[in-house]
Amino acid sequence: MKAALLHGAGRLGVDEVPVPAAGPGEIVVEMRACGLCGSDLEKIRGTYTAAPPVIGHEAVGVVADVGKGVEGIRRGARVFPHHHVPCGRCSACRGGSPTMCPRYRGTNLEPGGFAEHFRVPRWNVERGGVLRLPTAVDFERATFIEPLACAIRALDRAPRRPRSAIVLGTGPMGLLALQLLRLRGVDPVLASEVSRARAGKARALGAAIVWNPRSEDVVAAARRETDGAGVDLAIVATGHVPAIAQAVHAVRAGGTVVLLGVPEAGGRLDVDPSEFVTREVSLVPSNAATETETRRALALIARGRVDVASLVSHRFRLAAFEEAVRVAERAECVKALITP
Ligand SMILES: [Zn+2]
Ligand SMILES: [Zn+2]
Repeated sequence: MKAALLHGAGRLGVDEVPVPAAGPGEIVVEMRACGLCGSDLEKIRGTYTAAPPVIGHEAVGVVADVGKGVEGIRRGARVFPHHHVPCGRCSACRGGSPTMCPRYRGTNLEPGGFAEHFRVPRWNVERGGVLRLPTAVDFERATFIEPLACAIRALDRAPRRPRSAIVLGTGPMGLLALQLLRLRGVDPVLASEVSRARAGKARALGAAIVWNPRSEDVVAAARRETDGAGVDLAIVATGHVPAIAQAVHAVRAGGTVVLLGVPEAGGRLDVDPSEFVTREVSLVPSNAATETETRRALALIARGRVDVASLVSHRFRLAAFEEAVRVAERAECVKALITP
């Protein structure tokens, strides 16, 4: 079978590898679609080193093989398997930081989601990491379960109900956060984005105004729109480090900045730290999600509350994976999906 694999940081290949078999407690899924995520691109570039270099975690498909002892999952079932699952028992899990569980990143889809078939480890299967897809949810939309879950968790980590917000960076993650904010009644949701294609999508999905940070002073503009006070909440949905400083300055005194995008490694934040105290600005990072959020994400997608289908701008076959990576780096791409 074909699989797009990383051979060390930055070295990508579409290889011919054996089809995996399901060992005890495991399942094997025949991939039908897998979203190409910004973090995959960073792993391919070699700039994302916090996680193992396995690519493809927004994968969905049909169960092709069921290992001994697996209960409640049958061959032929349409599923979304979460690539990481926490233990639920350690201090991080009990303390409300399940994605910081030392076991969370201990397992992964094998050899990754960009493969014709992939194995889901026993750890993930046993702990409720495999969700059944209702017939109403097609595979394309189901690839958004994981990214939407990450956006849900990020918003949940922001204290209090915001009335106004800005989303910095309206790539797929920003567009999902934007829709969740609108669903929660936040008005206005402002945005900043350099890509015209992504800015257009943000407007279509409910952003009141989208500024281009290359030609406009986003902080001054956000303050102007909020009578000089600043917004309650800023969501940084880009890895571009200067956007974090903009977010700190765009929120009101007492406001919150949520870091949803993984900042480019090795960057430096240019903010006077006294601002955090004198203006009581909270910085809240959010990393990944768990089955709690993936279940909610699936329900929102199934009920049509979040438009995920219109985010897909490009589709590629697995054999053309390298071309998909090149296109996904371009400004006109919103979300690229890979199919077998
Ligand atoms: Zn992702
Ligand atoms: Zn744990």
